[in-house]
Amino acid sequence: MPKPTHKISTPQQAHLVTNPSQYRSQAVAAGRAVGTFSEVTDMTAVPRSAFINSGRWICVCDCGNAPSADSAWGMALCFECGKEWAPTFPLPTTLDAIEAVLVQRPIQNRNWLPEQTVEDLQAENDAAGIVPPVDEDDA
Ligand SMILES: [Zn+2]
Repeated sequence: MPKPTHKISTPQQAHLVTNPSQYRSQAVAAGRAVGTFSEVTDMTAVPRSAFINSGRWICVCDCGNAPSADSAWGMALCFECGKEWAPTFPLPTTLDAIEAVLVQRPIQNRNWLPEQTVEDLQAENDAAGIVPPVDEDDA
């Protein structure tokens, strides 16, 4: 049985792409397929925060869509309107801590907003009676 991916989803899972170039190509193909856009619009200079909703890193696009965001690539591409964002993410150590707390929850409850601290999330887990999994490597 494959190990579950204990990770918050990014474009790599949402769109099955492995690099930014592939992500852009797939977005453009999606736009062309329905005739909404034929090239990516660079919105990377406009501030935007990434957040986590139902186990997915996303940001909010001007069109109201919530494109999938990737911290390693520093980008999110809207498949509805073609805008490319460079959302801000927490620092890597904080990001890892946020994900570690959230992956203990059912996917639909894996939510994080930029104003929430790791301690806030842990307090929510504690209040919900979520017990951290035993690390198999230490067993
Ligand atoms: Zn959009």
